Amino acid sequence: MSVPSFESMSAPTPTPEGAKEEYNALYASWRRAKTRGERLQAIRQWDQIRRSLDTWQALTHLRFNQDTQNEDHKSARAYCDEIRPKLMELDVTMKRELLASPHRSELEQEFGTQAFALWQSDIKTYDPKIAEDLVKEANLQAEFIQLLASAELEFRGVKYNMSGLKQFAEDRDRAVRHDSIRVLWRWFDAQRESLDRIFDDLVRLRHGMARKLGFEDFVPLGYLRMNRVDYGRADVERFRNEVRDRVVPLCEKLRKRQARRLGLSELCYWDESLHDATGNPRPRGDHDWMLARAREMFDQLGRDTGEFFRLLCDRNLLDLKSRQGKAGGGFCTALPAYGVPFIFANFNGTRGDVEVFTHEAGHAFQSWMSRNVKLHDYLWPTTESCEIHSMSLEFLTWPYMEMFFGEQAAGFRDMHLADRLLFLPYGVAVDHFQHLVYQRPEASPEERNRMWQEMERIYLPWRNYGDLERAARGGFWQQQRHIYLMPFYYIDYTLALTCALQFWVRAEEEREVALADYVRLCSRGGEAPFQELARSAGLVSPFEEECLAAVVRQAGERLGVSS
Ligand SMILES: [Zn+2]
Repeated sequence: MSVPSFESMSAPTPTPEGAKEEYNALYASWRRAKTRGERLQAIRQWDQIRRSLDTWQALTHLRFNQDTQNEDHKSARAYCDEIRPKLMELDVTMKRELLASPHRSELEQEFGTQAFALWQSDIKTYDPKIAEDLVKEANLQAEFIQLLASAELEFRGVKYNMSGLKQFAEDRDRAVRHDSIRVLWRWFDAQRESLDRIFDDLVRLRHGMARKLGFEDFVPLGYLRMNRVDYGRADVERFRNEVRDRVVPLCEKLRKRQARRLGLSELCYWDESLHDATGNPRPRGDHDWMLARAREMFDQLGRDTGEFFRLLCDRNLLDLKSRQGKAGGGFCTALPAYGVPFIFANFNGTRGDVEVFTHEAGHAFQSWMSRNVKLHDYLWPTTESCEIHSMSLEFLTWPYMEMFFGEQAAGFRDMHLADRLLFLPYGVAVDHFQHLVYQRPEASPEERNRMWQEMERIYLPWRNYGDLERAARGGFWQQQRHIYLMPFYYIDYTLALTCALQFWVRAEEEREVALADYVRLCSRGGEAPFQELARSAGLVSPFEEECLAAVVRQAGERLGVSS
C-alpha cells in the first residue's frame, strides 16, 4: 500500500452500536471456525478491526495534542475517551474466548505464548463496572494536558510556553537560568490547587477501580495495566535499591565535579542542566537544518533507517515545532492502518532537539520495522522494551553527532552519558514515589509532597531548590507528566537505559554486531516479554546480579569518576 501524506489520513469514527455489530460478527466467525485456517482467518479479521480502531484513537489524540484549544479536536477526543471502555469490553470478550479456546496450543504455535500472557493480564484490568471511572480518568488527564499547554510564561518581556521557556535552563548566565526557572515555578505555585485537585481525583479514582476489580490498591493494577508479564514488584524494588547503592554515590561525584567546572561553591537546581561553563553544546541550525542533518545521518547509518526517515519527512509524519496551545512533551505514536508511525515534539533550540531524532526516531523505526508482525498485539512490545529501542539509538548515533554539534560533539557525548547516569536516580525516585502514593490513597496533597521530599533525600541528595518555594516544599513531582498520565511507566526508562548502556559498550567494541542486534530487536516488535527480548539481543537483564553495576562502572570510567 502506498502511504498518503498525514493531512489526508483518516480512520472511520466508530459508534458503540456499529462496533458491537462488527465484534458480534467477529465472535460468530471465531465460534464457527472449524479448521486451523478458519481460526487464523478470524484472528486476521480481529486484527483488521483493531488496526482501524487504533488508528482512529491515535489520530484523534494526536490532533488534540497538536492544538489543545481547538473545539472540534477537543470534542473528538472527549467522544473517543467516552466510548473507549466500550471498545475495551468488546476486545476483552475476544481475549477471553481465545484464552479459553481448546485450540490454544495450536494458536501458541502460530503466534507464540506472549499474546496469551498479555491477554491474561488485560482481562484482569477491565470490567464493565469500571467503565465510567475510565472515562473520568481520561477526562482528568485531558484537563491536565490542557492546563499545562495553556501556560503562558512571561520572561524578560516575551511570552513562552513550557518547552520554549526551558531553553533558558541551559543558559550560561546564572541569573537567566535562575529567573526563568523561577517563572516556571511561580506558574506551578499559582496552579497548585488545580494540580492538587486533578491528582487527588486521579489517585482516588484509580484506587477505586482497583478495589472494584478485587485488588488491595492500585499498585498491582498499575503493573497489570503496564502488561508486566515477566517481572514483578520485588524485582523492581531490588533494582531501585541497586540504583540507590551503586549509582547515587557516583552521581553525587558527578554533581560535585559539575559545580567545580561551573566555578560554583554550591550547585543549585537551576545549575543542573548546564554541564560546561562555556555553554552546553547546541545544534548549529534551526528546525529545517536539523531535519536535513537527520536525513543525512540516517542515510549513513543505513540498514533501512535512511529509507524509513525519508518516508517520515515526505509524508509529513513529524510535528516538531513548538507553538502556543500545542501539548508539551514528545512522543511517537503508530497509525497501524497505514503501517507508519508519527513523531510529536517541541523543539526549543537545545541539544534536546537532536534527541528527538535519536530517541523518538528509535521508537518510530521499531514500529515501522514491526508493521508486518503476525499479530496486532506485537506492533509494540511492552514499554520498558520500547525504551530500549529509543535509548539505544541515542547511543548508536553517537558517531554522527559532529553533523549537529561540530567540534562540540565530543562534549555532547560526555554530557549525554553523564545526563543519562544522572537520570537513573531520578527515574527510580519517580517510581518509588508512585508506590507510596498508591499505597496510601487517602494521603493529603501535603503528605504526598512530604513523600516526594523523602525520595529526594534518598535518591537526589544533592538537590537544592534555593528560593523556588513550591519545589522546595516537595512539589517538584508535579512537573512530571507521567505521574498524572501514565502511572508506573517511569521505571521503564531506567530498565531500558540499563540495556541501552550495554548497547553503548558493545558499539564501542563491535559496532557492526551491535547494530545488527539492534535492528533485529526492532524487527521482533513485541513478540516476547522484556527479559527475553533483551537476552535475544545479546543483553543481560537489568534484574540480574551485577548487570547495573557493570555498565555503570564502565560509564563512570569513561567519565573519569568512580563510585
Ligand atoms: Zn521514549
